[in-house]
Amino acid sequence: MRPINFTNTQVASSETARDINRGVVLNLIRRRQPISRADLARVSGLQRSTVSLITEQLIREKWVVYGPLGRLPRGRRPTFLRLNEERAILVADLRPDQTTLAVADVNGRFLGQEAVKTPADPRAGVEVFVATFQRFMRAHPNLVFEGVGISLPGRFDEKTQRVLFAPNLKKWTDFDFKDAIERGTGMGVELENAANACVLAEVWFGHTETVRDLMVVTVSEGLGTGIFVNGHLARGLNGMAGEFGHVPLNPQGPQCTCGGRGCWEVYASNRAALRYYHESSPSSNGLNFQDLLTLAESGDALAVKALDRMAHAIGSGMRMVIAGISPEEIVVVGDVTRQWHRFGPVIEEEVRAAVLVGKPPRIRPAEGVMARLRGTVALVLQKHFAPSGRGVQAGKTT
Ligand SMILES: [Zn+2]
Repeated sequence: MRPINFTNTQVASSETARDINRGVVLNLIRRRQPISRADLARVSGLQRSTVSLITEQLIREKWVVYGPLGRLPRGRRPTFLRLNEERAILVADLRPDQTTLAVADVNGRFLGQEAVKTPADPRAGVEVFVATFQRFMRAHPNLVFEGVGISLPGRFDEKTQRVLFAPNLKKWTDFDFKDAIERGTGMGVELENAANACVLAEVWFGHTETVRDLMVVTVSEGLGTGIFVNGHLARGLNGMAGEFGHVPLNPQGPQCTCGGRGCWEVYASNRAALRYYHESSPSSNGLNFQDLLTLAESGDALAVKALDRMAHAIGSGMRMVIAGISPEEIVVVGDVTRQWHRFGPVIEEEVRAAVLVGKPPRIRPAEGVMARLRGTVALVLQKHFAPSGRGVQAGKTT
């Protein structure tokens, strides 16, 4: 388990901890911008002189810029600080069928976005991604790019720097595409599991500063979960924590891409809903999940029934997660949230029926592609912003 407490405002007193204080100040500017130096000192508990030294350094490094001017009574006009929006990150949400590539500024605002069909061959994929990133860079000559973040439908081993497990994107595990993209763009590439990226997005950009136990369930071609427990992102051995999607609920059930049978994923993913629809309407070949949602929107009873079955399966599978983790909040990420008014209550009902003590966790939707992309922005930035200092991955210390 690796802690990622970005909002830690405990400051360090020793000289060797200058980097920790730098991370604290940078995060306070990020969270509360525009903010004056006086307020930075007050909120952080650091001395005014220390805050001045750190902010001068951040301004020299072009992480922070002046403005806008604040207004105070008595005619004084303190100078406010904010993040430099000309620092940018290139991101990709790699999915089995489609990949979304984007350019975002340091505040997670997207300045350009493009979707491409994901090539089955990772070598062809790398070529497309690098060409798209280079086009983004040419289109924004004023920006300073910090690096590349990619969210994956699988698990990535930090030690070997290789993708270990991606049952819905098998060929990509045999090729070191991280290294190929690094060589192609000349920038560092950070990889993260899609569900973990969504946890990062919630913790970094969301309003969940006080939530310590959070689960993200990503529902797309497969089903993944990201676990934020006691204020830390759980990774586990080989980075494999959170594979609830591959817990077999019925050993005689349908074949799963992981090699097992009857996993939660084969009942609750987008592919499951398509299978349900196809079973009741055998002439429906070639339909994708977006088509199914559109059919449901237009009142197709069989499409509604297929999605309803999927929603029940999402909710009933959450019971094992809730029994094990007991999160305060569960964030559902995926296209199915487009019709949350219809399927959200089905999921909530399943969860409510299984609560052992007290209130059920809050369940809410998040917008899929954007949540994953925002998470990868945080993934790249956390290296600079972590209270543990520059170049150190977030939260090696807290
Ligand atoms: Zn499986």
